[in-house]
Amino acid sequence: MEIVHEPSRMRELCDHARREGARVGIVPTMGALHAGHLALVDEARRRGATKVVVTIFVNPLQFGPNEDFGRYPRTLPEDAVLCEARGVDWIFAPARESMYPDGFSSQVRVSGVTEVLEGVFRPGHFDGVTTVVAKLFGIVGQSVAIFGRKDYQQWCVLRRMVRDLDLPIEMHGMPTVREVDGLALSSRNRYLSESERARALAISRGLRAACEAFERGERDAATLTSIARAPIEASFDAIDYVALADADSLAPITLVEDRAVIAVAARIGKTRLIDNVVLSEDRIPLPA
Ligand code: AMP
Repeated sequence: MEIVHEPSRMRELCDHARREGARVGIVPTMGALHAGHLALVDEARRRGATKVVVTIFVNPLQFGPNEDFGRYPRTLPEDAVLCEARGVDWIFAPARESMYPDGFSSQVRVSGVTEVLEGVFRPGHFDGVTTVVAKLFGIVGQSVAIFGRKDYQQWCVLRRMVRDLDLPIEMHGMPTVREVDGLALSSRNRYLSESERARALAISRGLRAACEAFERGERDAATLTSIARAPIEASFDAIDYVALADADSLAPITLVEDRAVIAVAARIGKTRLIDNVVLSEDRIPLPA
């Protein structure tokens, strides 16, 4: 496995591999890798990638001024060990200056689907995400890209971007990988103390309860969201949103008639967690 820092070298490796008949898979991340990220690597292989690049870049553009850019975990040596063991071919870990050299002044912006949910609480966040991912796609070139549906809105936004801009990228989304007790794996879970981690389980409890109500036939959005919200309200310090939305457009809905997602963002202390379930598709099993 090679750790690549320079965009030009990364492009060269991918171009060369494709000329030799390889299918390139890309898994964009900010590092601090966990089993959720590694599942994306496996999925890239299942989707036929013969060369897999994991990109690791804590992208300053997607953090707001009062967010956790400074303290976001940076664990490249540990990440490299995990990637190598998983059969990753290349890690692309560019320096900030090679992604955003002096004079950098372009932006990729998707409208509509970025303006709800996270878009309300993290202004500019998705512009940072789409800009960096467009750059990564530009560097790596034609490829199969794997994203987690843990960041459900991000997945919707990036799919929109790829379609709108005719990028030569085959997009695949992966279900959320959870701990056995239901907590969605997240690099930000390492901010949680033991007691905060126990409180954080309220999100998966709330989402599970909403799924169960849906399975019993409940279709009213206000009822489903209040079922999801109750345990979260009891355990978290603040809730940004618990919302039911159309699973494709992310437009708010009042009655579930089609594919719908319940998305949550809430804070414990300084830690902000997000999670979601697509009703009728996702399951959060009860801990054994
Ligand atoms: P990040 O953790 O922000 O670096 O995310 C990198 C990629 O990993 C994104 O596509 C995320 O959606 C995905 N990801 C993060 N956590 C999980 C998880 N628990 N299950 C599946 N995918 C995940």
